[in-house]
Amino acid sequence: MTLNSYSLGIGDRFGQEGRSQLRALQLGAELGVHVTPVWNKSNREHIIIGSSPVDTRREADEAVSAAAWYAPYCVDADHIGLATVGRFLESSDFFTIDVADYIGATPDTEAAASYVRAMERFLGDLSIAGIPAPIRVDRSLLDKVARRYLSAVRAAGEVYRYVERERGAGTFVTEISLDEADEPQTPAELLFILAAISLERVPVQTIAPKFSGAFLKGVDYVGDVSRFAREFEEDLAVIAFAAKTFDLRRDLKLSVHSGSDKFSLYPEMHRALRKFNAGLHLKTAGTTWLEELLGLAEAGGEGLRAARHIYAESLRRYEELCKPYLSVISIDQFKLPSVKEVEAWNGLEYAAALRHDCSDRMYNRDFRQLLHVGYKVAAEMGPRFISLLQEHRSVIERNVTENLYRRHLLPLFVGEKHHQNLR
Ligand SMILES: [Zn+2]
Repeated sequence: MTLNSYSLGIGDRFGQEGRSQLRALQLGAELGVHVTPVWNKSNREHIIIGSSPVDTRREADEAVSAAAWYAPYCVDADHIGLATVGRFLESSDFFTIDVADYIGATPDTEAAASYVRAMERFLGDLSIAGIPAPIRVDRSLLDKVARRYLSAVRAAGEVYRYVERERGAGTFVTEISLDEADEPQTPAELLFILAAISLERVPVQTIAPKFSGAFLKGVDYVGDVSRFAREFEEDLAVIAFAAKTFDLRRDLKLSVHSGSDKFSLYPEMHRALRKFNAGLHLKTAGTTWLEELLGLAEAGGEGLRAARHIYAESLRRYEELCKPYLSVISIDQFKLPSVKEVEAWNGLEYAAALRHDCSDRMYNRDFRQLLHVGYKVAAEMGPRFISLLQEHRSVIERNVTENLYRRHLLPLFVGEKHHQNLR
């Protein structure tokens, strides 16, 4: 299984928008930018919605056929481990092995010693093309990687070998994710984590580190953009070096999780990808359902009533709905509009508060984040919500395609210059 140099996590909470997401990728392909779609839905999301991995596969296959999509696509078992991978085996061909829980677990002493011995040849100043100053490799760095990450890499190996036994080698894409760790990994640490992965013989294709700054769901990056840009470049340099130096796949690439809506980063990321001629996997954060909500609000009538109801319920059940997402949202409760205010908004005002357009003075990032986790309320509406989506298909699809194409694909993969020419 191979991915294009660029790949993008797509799919949506309710499995309705695959075709309009593919439409965005088809528009990209018309500009010569070929992006592999990867349907991803985490175990957490399946549990909250009450869906199963088989549903995601079915939706992907149907959307691909309806959209006449002839290029490869994948279905991702997102953030799985040994305990949860089972029900994804049949329907997935991309496995995101989440090892965050094993970070910092004490490794086997002999394994740690043999890892450090194997890495001794890098002691000293290590020059890597694309990084201005050499990386200082000393024992404390190697010891730290062994101590913090070796158990995690071992755990990834176990999951990989299990999937390989069940599915057969070469039939799936392997990603390792460290992004839900407490601490970010430095580029130097990433390099030696990749060395450990090669010794574990996992043919990893995408790796998701935790970057500095906050990647919250549905809103822009919070942190120092220029610092991120430097770190991102160094990670790309490290990945290129690791792919040549260790026994790893040559098409190894970086994966960015919760990567949708990070508008302040895309110009920097685009520039760095060009500079290193590097690939990227960008996972989106399930925000497509917000485009559905936008569409319903814009449609007015029953659609707007449902959108208001979902907000009122989300506000009432604030604690419960936010709980599973506490580490990836940051809501200022004082800035949330009251139910009464929202009742007074017309559809366009509701949509303007929700749509991620920072230049619109109605835009409210707290409102947007709360609705993002409020999908459980929509899920509980069951067939009524789905039939509203179907009824207002055209306005929703326009929002879904537009959001993915104009706000994501163009600035990230095509670049601002081209982006401006199209405006
Ligand atoms: Zn993640």
